[in-house]
Amino acid sequence: MSRSAWIDGILDFCYPNRCDCCGSLIPYRAVICEECRVQLEKLTISYTDWCRSETTQPIPWRHLITVYAYQALAREGILAMKEGHRQFAVHLAQKLSLIAVKELPLSQIDFVTWVPIAKRRRAEQGYGHSEYLAKQLAARLYLPVKGGLLVQEHTQQRQHHNKTAKEREAFAQRFHKTNADLTGKTILLCDDVLTTGHTLRRCVSLLQEMGADTVYGAVGACRLIEQQVSISKGDTA
Ligand SMILES: [Zn+2]
Repeated sequence: MSRSAWIDGILDFCYPNRCDCCGSLIPYRAVICEECRVQLEKLTISYTDWCRSETTQPIPWRHLITVYAYQALAREGILAMKEGHRQFAVHLAQKLSLIAVKELPLSQIDFVTWVPIAKRRRAEQGYGHSEYLAKQLAARLYLPVKGGLLVQEHTQQRQHHNKTAKEREAFAQRFHKTNADLTGKTILLCDDVLTTGHTLRRCVSLLQEMGADTVYGAVGACRLIEQQVSISKGDTA
């Protein structure tokens, strides 16, 4: 047994690591379990899939990248992120970075930022999940990060509790700009999930009001309204 394998064995014993999607024990350095990785592959979608069901309103971002349909294990992983588990964010950042290299003009992007959560909720969660995802992604793309550009008012309500488009639109008004000067900047804005797009539209508009020239989006998953990604019978997801 090599020295690093021996050390990993001790770390496994002292700090059991669990898959954020299914809770099963995984090796110390693993991010999610192999079974979930295989199941998640079946939920892979492109931004075009989301556009097919959500094209009724103008889209203020230049382009957006995403990994999964927001359902089954992808949903479980993102809900775990919101509960303070970080491994799924690392998994999403790994996936998003590979897509970003193919689909985004990385040399033109000045920095990565994120859709913020309210301060009180950040304290409850122990971290900001979209901020963490953004930082993980930025590190993989060798891009700088910039936070504190937008703020969200505190509310007991969470966006994923809002069922109707009207509720989601009203919720999006809780985001506000700051006095940061973003004149001429090209920004990559990161969030966990894209559903109706109200939150992202609002945040992109605010960044543009602050002077941003171009905004690209990166989200872990998109909710598809019209159709679910079909998973073949017998799959546990
Ligand atoms: Zn798993």
